[in-house]
Amino acid sequence: MTTQLSSPATSNPGHGDAFTDHMVSLSWNAVDGWHDRRVGPLEPLPLHPATIGLHYAQVIFEGLKAHRGPDGSVSVFRPDRNALRFQSSARRLAMPELPVEDFLTAIDDLVLLDGAGLPDDPSISLYLRPLMFATDPNLMLRPSDEYRFLLMAFVAGGFFGVKALEPVSVLISREHSRAVLGGTGDVKCAANYGPSFVAQNLARQAGCQQVVWLDAAEHRWVEEMGGMNLFFVRRTGSGTEVVTPGLTGTLLPGVTRESLLVLAARLGHTVREERISVDQWREECAAGLITEVFACGTAAVVTPVGTVRDRDGDWVIGDGTAGPVTRELRQALVDTQRGVLPDPGGWRR
Ligand code: PMP
Repeated sequence: MTTQLSSPATSNPGHGDAFTDHMVSLSWNAVDGWHDRRVGPLEPLPLHPATIGLHYAQVIFEGLKAHRGPDGSVSVFRPDRNALRFQSSARRLAMPELPVEDFLTAIDDLVLLDGAGLPDDPSISLYLRPLMFATDPNLMLRPSDEYRFLLMAFVAGGFFGVKALEPVSVLISREHSRAVLGGTGDVKCAANYGPSFVAQNLARQAGCQQVVWLDAAEHRWVEEMGGMNLFFVRRTGSGTEVVTPGLTGTLLPGVTRESLLVLAARLGHTVREERISVDQWREECAAGLITEVFACGTAAVVTPVGTVRDRDGDWVIGDGTAGPVTRELRQALVDTQRGVLPDPGGWRR
């Protein structure tokens, strides 16, 4: 059985609503463990109004993509990394872990069904969304006894529209924080995202496309951007350094971030994970040391940052356009995902 992707696949499908026709579902309870595996049509869920996940946000999710390569094959990029992050999120939210094999089998099944119409076009991919939520209809403030896993998919164009290398403008968030030490910033739970929307709205009102999160303790160190990790390209006497904030426990360990660290090193750049402050960011841009900044993530791929707005003024990164290292790394990533470049080792499934 195959399903052709609906017509949005060939125009600009945007991001988030061009759903495919199927979903995979599994249920969990303490007696049966994971059971009742179903692959069927994407359909609305009948939910009791007291469903715990709706009230207490015992909800986790993932995001990963399938791509069609020039050889015609469809492959999923590093789903094992997402399977492990899904387990780590489950542990943090006192939820049962889904075995990696079950996660991967669900991905295989949905891609087989709904990936058939995916075009050989680097700007179009199949975004896969695994979700797990607490289903107990019980309003006691405690972890649920029952859970549901769902996997759905949508056809994705560029997160920022069709212009892949168009630089975005960002606002440093001074009023709101995304994550605190001991909190949930390093996992992918639903409760991390709803509270970020107000900061995202403020960024829009300030004429920016995205928000940059600082550490919550000192409001000094750069952490992430919206739902993406950040990279800085710095000129040194001997070449270029590609720098990204280290995983302090308040950043999401992005699969794209991890992949770019490998690809950048292979391309001959010095790669570093280190703290970078907002002051350093501004001053090193002014001094011509930081020449490029880009965000990365499954949805954003590699997206250049052009201008930064902060409480005491704006600054431009480089000449405000996508720089050569940003372009090189984006190309290396996309080519690796699509199988144009060799698989660095178990990255494509
Ligand atoms: N940070 C946050 C907060 C995110 O939501 C995401 C998207 N999952 C990322 C970074 C990038 O992660 P990945 O490269 O795994 O998509």
